[in-house]
Amino acid sequence: MNTEVVIIGGSFAGLAAAMPLVRAQRQVRVIDANTPRNRFADASHGIFCLDGKTPGDIRATALTQLQAYPTFDLIEGTATNIEQTRHGFAVITGHGVSVNAQRIILATGITDTLPDIPGIKEHWGKSVIHCPYCHGYELKDRHLGVLATSEMSFHQAAMIPDWGATTLFTQGLFEPNDDTLKHLQSRGVSLERTPIVEVSGNGVDIHEVTLADNRRLPVEGLYVGPKITLTSPLIDQLGLTLEETPMGSIVQVDALKESSLKGVFVAGDLSNAMQNGTFAIASGTMAGVAAHRSLIFES
Ligand SMILES: Cc1cc2nc3c(=O)[nH]c(=O)nc-3n(C[C@H](O)[C@H](O)[C@H](O)COP(=O)(O)OP(=O)(O)OC[C@H]3O[C@@H](n4cnc5c(N)ncnc54)[C@H](O)[C@@H]3O)c2cc1C
Repeated sequence: MNTEVVIIGGSFAGLAAAMPLVRAQRQVRVIDANTPRNRFADASHGIFCLDGKTPGDIRATALTQLQAYPTFDLIEGTATNIEQTRHGFAVITGHGVSVNAQRIILATGITDTLPDIPGIKEHWGKSVIHCPYCHGYELKDRHLGVLATSEMSFHQAAMIPDWGATTLFTQGLFEPNDDTLKHLQSRGVSLERTPIVEVSGNGVDIHEVTLADNRRLPVEGLYVGPKITLTSPLIDQLGLTLEETPMGSIVQVDALKESSLKGVFVAGDLSNAMQNGTFAIASGTMAGVAAHRSLIFES
């Protein structure tokens, strides 16, 4: 197969990028390690026509539809090396498979780093969450908390009362200024400045948090903004320009999702400041269309 576009990462963004390309009869290879960011959750919510589907079902449906096109190919594995060549790019996987292509779409996602507090990792994606549109409805009308991880947590705390009574845990590290405090109070948010040292639950539902002074408070849904990190070595290997967001770095792209390196398009959480499945699908579609156009107009 003479690959025209290699897509690295085959989740929401990567598989969405493949669709316009295979429908244009372009030879596409997706390399995917199958570790999507939402793998800790039992269901994906808020995505048009996919509300409540499991991440596995969504991937399987997308692959079934893509595999109906003869120019689509999936390589299960991890791309470990990439370099620019005279005619495009050469990609090598951990299993030693080598693929050359004229264009690259990177959709490898990001890695979440959670606060190192017992109980948080165990309940991540279930009752410890970061996105109210994704899982807030399922936790509505419970005792809700927001664990501050940056100044962005004030913004999140102001939103969450739409889903239930909310306490902002500042951890003694983040103090709202007077205007922000007034806004939080007007939204009915309570503040707790003593740090949470443990989150307790049954592995799915949390029921309380323990504070550093040994008090225990009922909390049945805890919002935590993770720090995001770009862990793919391919970004450095290609020397792509990054940009900073309040949550961490993402790859800088233009409106057509092309990166600082011509011929390399970047989609999904890796280049989106606003991150969820829908935005990843939309940006993947844009990257796929833009890569196709560049094959025609920039060869
Ligand atoms: C716990 C949790 C629950 C969520 N729930 C929802 C929800 O309900 N609704 C919603 O809209 N959003 C939800 N999100 C957000 C959503 O998961 C992300 O926005 C979305 O997964 C981003 O898609 P993506 O394709 O950019 O990256 P990802 O889905 O993270 O996929 C990246 C893919 O690239 C692969 N990959 C990485 N490096 C390589 C490599 N070198 N070679 C080959 N493959 C590689 C990975 O294995 C993975 O399959 C949730 C997020 C979390 C953390």
